[in-house]
Amino acid sequence: MGQKVERTPRVLAVMAHPDDAEILVGGTLFHLKALGWEAGIITMTSGDCGSATLTKQEIARIRRAEAQAAAAFLGAWYGCAELLDVEIFANAENQRRVVELMRQFQPDVVLTHSPVDYMVDHEETARLARSASFALSMPLYHTRQNTPAAPTAATPALYYADSVEGIDLAGERLWPQFYIDIGETLARKKEMLSLHASQREWLRTHHGVDEYLDQMTRWAASYGRECGATYAEGFRQHLGHGYPHAPVLQQALKSYSKSGSKSGSKRRIHQ
Ligand SMILES: [Zn+2]
Repeated sequence: MGQKVERTPRVLAVMAHPDDAEILVGGTLFHLKALGWEAGIITMTSGDCGSATLTKQEIARIRRAEAQAAAAFLGAWYGCAELLDVEIFANAENQRRVVELMRQFQPDVVLTHSPVDYMVDHEETARLARSASFALSMPLYHTRQNTPAAPTAATPALYYADSVEGIDLAGERLWPQFYIDIGETLARKKEMLSLHASQREWLRTHHGVDEYLDQMTRWAASYGRECGATYAEGFRQHLGHGYPHAPVLQQALKSYSKSGSKSGSKRRIHQ
């Protein structure tokens, strides 16, 4: 009695746009997959503003397919909340959509955007992921679907990825609590990102170089320099009341987890 049934751990990236998961947490997702975890990716939008030449419907169809293919390359489940670019807001209706998708996947660990980021879409996604994670296991929180997914057994551990370029709104470094060394998975992260061909081509046409992949690699290298790795991704764990405080991700990836010179010392957990 009271015996816990062991199940395969499940990590879910809850991100704003197609390609955000790849850029911000892709290397970490490949590590977890290699350990036998199940992985999923939810994007709030299908990337309907990601073109200067196509219609909204055309680019959304292309980018939804690219996101699906990139998730398949990782071996991950994919869901899209079908919100619109630059119109992601943490309101009740959108939260019901996000909770429904998250319940379909039943995550143990959720990775989302930094609550402070360059774009409001990212910040609002972080708010939605935070409040949805809290609501996931509540049986009386209803998503108003005809056949709703079941609530989860517990609140998932919640982690924030580095903001884009790792900075806050004043351009100061938002220091991660810990980093994951992604030297071994960078090549696959890059290949996964390259499946977002419409965005890669768009930047390649405008810059004349492969800025899409180069920029992601430069960022990973700069986070790596902060923690003594060649390439890294940075994270902060949500340690507010009611969310799991156990360092699930840090422990699962113990051999890749690193603290930087300015991080790692601020964890306070009541014993
Ligand atoms: Zn984005």
